[in-house]
Amino acid sequence: MDMLIAPRSTLHALQPIGQGTGQVESLTSYFCRLAHSHGMKARDLAAWTLQHFGEPIPDDYKWYRRAFAGASQESEQWSSWIAALTGIGGLDRLTLAPWRHLVSNCSLTSRIDRWCPLCLRDDKAANQPLYLRLSWDIASVTACTRHKINLASTCPHCEKSNVRHRASAVIPGYCTACGGFLGDQTTRLAEPAAIWQARSIEQMVGRPPEVDANRVLALLETLVERMAHGRITTFAETVGLSKSGVWHWFNKGGIPTLQAWLAISLCGGRGLDRLFVGDLENWVLPEIDHQLSIPLEISPRKGIRARFLDWSAIRAKLRQLLEAPEAISLAQVSKELELDQKQLYQNANAEVRAIVSRYQGHRAGSRKNKMQRLQDQVTELLQERWGAGYSGMSARDIWPLLDQDLKAIRHSFRHIEVAIAANDS
Ligand SMILES: [Zn+2]
Ligand SMILES: [Zn+2]
Repeated sequence: MDMLIAPRSTLHALQPIGQGTGQVESLTSYFCRLAHSHGMKARDLAAWTLQHFGEPIPDDYKWYRRAFAGASQESEQWSSWIAALTGIGGLDRLTLAPWRHLVSNCSLTSRIDRWCPLCLRDDKAANQPLYLRLSWDIASVTACTRHKINLASTCPHCEKSNVRHRASAVIPGYCTACGGFLGDQTTRLAEPAAIWQARSIEQMVGRPPEVDANRVLALLETLVERMAHGRITTFAETVGLSKSGVWHWFNKGGIPTLQAWLAISLCGGRGLDRLFVGDLENWVLPEIDHQLSIPLEISPRKGIRARFLDWSAIRAKLRQLLEAPEAISLAQVSKELELDQKQLYQNANAEVRAIVSRYQGHRAGSRKNKMQRLQDQVTELLQERWGAGYSGMSARDIWPLLDQDLKAIRHSFRHIEVAIAANDS
């Protein structure tokens, strides 16, 4: 009788952490933990692996120069070598290699090592192995979606950067220069757009793509068809990309960068995870605001901005207003500075939120009436929406989201419309 016997693996069959979720471990992290579980240095394990597969080892061999977690062929090669040695399958999903045919490698991974200190602290508190998330290596991810803070890149103890895994021996979560715990710090609150972007990418890494290399062009064609009636120029304008860039996909075999995919996802109102499995069923385009809050490649054809705004000066002014004895509303601020509230939200988010929350506190103390709460809730809902890069919402969209007693106000739709108009002015 034929029996399939699982062969003993050469290396410890260590389980990767977070597979199939947005918190999936990176191959770099897995490799470091694997080496550690064998009482080996990461460098020695890498050299041994190369030797095992008959590859040359340079004299000044630095294992971490290898692109472990990226979308290169090398990432794919290493994941299959390590899979062969450990008997653990699917290790390519700890890298970006499965997305190689969909996402351009250009500026895909971060040059600087980053991490969320609070995630490391949570791992430690839960007595779980500390590990590095794949998303932290992706350049477009700058924030942690769980803790809503920016990722860190310098050691809180010695203040050095690139100390996460660039050494011969590595213990994930500890500085390679001074040995200090990398979770001993906190960073600034992240902007809503950065959280949206990080969440989109987490959804992407949690689900392997199903659109294969032969269907990428068809997917792009469908998107241009549905979002711009097949017109490349309109599509490029809609998503804020250069026309030549989009043309390149269709005529020269180019593929979009991750930032371009994010712009498409934002404008199309469809998550990257769903785009990459080709799920375009029941897809309704949202109302689109052309002023995106995520940074895109600058198009050389783009005209000069009509008005130059010095945002560091504006933010300083906003901080001054925060110190003023009277709490001031965002509508007043917007009027005084002659700036759109959406613009303020997108460029001076932390200051604006502080102004809004101070004003709301002030209102709650002085006049607790329903109409004011209605106004505040409408404002808050609109601002969340703008923060994510969208345009406004209708009274019909807002009504179900209000507090129960506010929904019951007579002529509530009319009052919501008034509140929307006040925000638009
Ligand atoms: Zn975190
Ligand atoms: Zn350090």
